[in-house]
Amino acid sequence: MSRVVIAGGGLVGSLLSLLLQKRGHQVFLFEKRPDLRGQQKDVGRSINLIVTSRGLNALKAAGLLNKALALTVPVTGRMMHSVNGELAYQAYGRDPSECNYSISRSELNRFLISESARTTENIFFEHHLDAVDFENKTATFNCKGVNQKWEYDILIGADGAGSVLRNLMHQDSGCLNQTTYLGSDYKELFMPLKNGKPALEKNALHIWPRGSHMLMALPNLDGSFTMTLYLPREGQENSFSNLKTEAAVRTYFEKYFPDALNLMPTAVQDFLKNPQGILGTVRTKPWVMKESVAVIGDAAHAILPFFGQGMNCGFEDCMVLMRALDQHGENWAKALSTYDLEQRPNADAIADMALENFYEMSDKVGDQNFLFRKKVEAWLEKNFPEDYRSRYGMITYTLIPYRLAFEAGLIQNEILGELAAGVSSVEELSLEKAKMLLHEKFHPFLKKNSIQLGRFRP
Ligand SMILES: Cc1cc2nc3c(=O)[nH]c(=O)nc-3n(C[C@H](O)[C@H](O)[C@H](O)COP(=O)(O)OP(=O)(O)OC[C@H]3O[C@@H](n4cnc5c(N)ncnc54)[C@H](O)[C@@H]3O)c2cc1C
Repeated sequence: MSRVVIAGGGLVGSLLSLLLQKRGHQVFLFEKRPDLRGQQKDVGRSINLIVTSRGLNALKAAGLLNKALALTVPVTGRMMHSVNGELAYQAYGRDPSECNYSISRSELNRFLISESARTTENIFFEHHLDAVDFENKTATFNCKGVNQKWEYDILIGADGAGSVLRNLMHQDSGCLNQTTYLGSDYKELFMPLKNGKPALEKNALHIWPRGSHMLMALPNLDGSFTMTLYLPREGQENSFSNLKTEAAVRTYFEKYFPDALNLMPTAVQDFLKNPQGILGTVRTKPWVMKESVAVIGDAAHAILPFFGQGMNCGFEDCMVLMRALDQHGENWAKALSTYDLEQRPNADAIADMALENFYEMSDKVGDQNFLFRKKVEAWLEKNFPEDYRSRYGMITYTLIPYRLAFEAGLIQNEILGELAAGVSSVEELSLEKAKMLLHEKFHPFLKKNSIQLGRFRP
């Protein structure tokens, strides 16, 4: 069994530590921050996440599914809020049991660290990976000003979007190490209970789409909502750089989110006080070096949050690596190579789709053509439940590789375009034409790639 050093005890590092311990490896987990356990909520930084099929699958493999689900709130659809307060609801799945799960990132992290600590004492906080000697296989961690050298057989960087290990790999081997910033940042805000009850429909993701900027809300277990405001950093009237005073922030909220502002008594203060997070896409190639060093999760592929898949993809990375270790009888050199070749194209695909979804969520959700296509797609899914699954459904409710879901989406666009052409209501759609299009365009693709559209049930 190998001595595995993991840098980064975030979501992916702590889950990976659990999965590798289960296989009998000797795992050492190093996290630069202090121990989360016993700390208060990470106010201003505790974004909520959506856990979907891939995340659930990995939690199940770690034996943690039911305990983790108990920390979540089911989210069955999107609720769109217009400026004048009108609501439009779109269910996510075919029925309410096909849903996403909202969870606080820091709660999930705390939970995974606690679970990991049940089986090992080798978790070290306030240890910052600083340097690696790739030839002699030693990693240097700095703890409160003191450097410690740790030998490893395998070194894995789960140290997030700004990964030190990825940068060191790049310096050593010149691997691709590219970060593309979106130009929009985010801030966490908060909506408390109203008269002891949730102020909004609890089992929904709420979106206030306003073109280049938008507000989102995800439910917490107690019925409050964690809100995220996405806004251009600068260069526009509605941007973080233009909203610096209490008066300017209040005027902005009154203009664009009046209904939400009424339910968020501390919105203006939270906006001025809470940290501003940066959003970007990280691409790395390869993910593996010298047969013994690898990056995983955001360290390998930070993506935009607009498909709710960053962590889900990171958890899937862990599953792909576990499968590769199975396949190669714990031969790490071979397993790491398989992990890189298999999962990197999937991460690239979800990175592209997350960017597409940014435009969809911020811009198109108010566009009539786009909304009609969504209706046509819902009609297709309803009438052909065995033969059609939207790209969104494939990503959130199945384990179909992201790369194939991306390709399927291109074919689906053609089909939806042909079906919707010259039609102005769902009642006018032709079942015969739909059947023919699916048969000619979609089924051959499914067959060629051995894709089963059935839902993943944890
Ligand atoms: C606004 C927003 C919303 C999101 N929503 C979703 C969602 O709905 N669903 C979803 O699946 N994903 C979502 N994501 C993405 C998700 O948060 C990330 O993909 C996920 O946190 C990645 O986990 P990770 O463990 O790879 O990295 P991180 O969570 O960043 O953890 C990295 C860890 O490494 C530590 N570290 C860093 N450097 C060092 C070092 N040198 N030495 C030691 N330790 C170090 C850090 O302290 C941290 O604990 C969202 C992201 C954002 C910003």
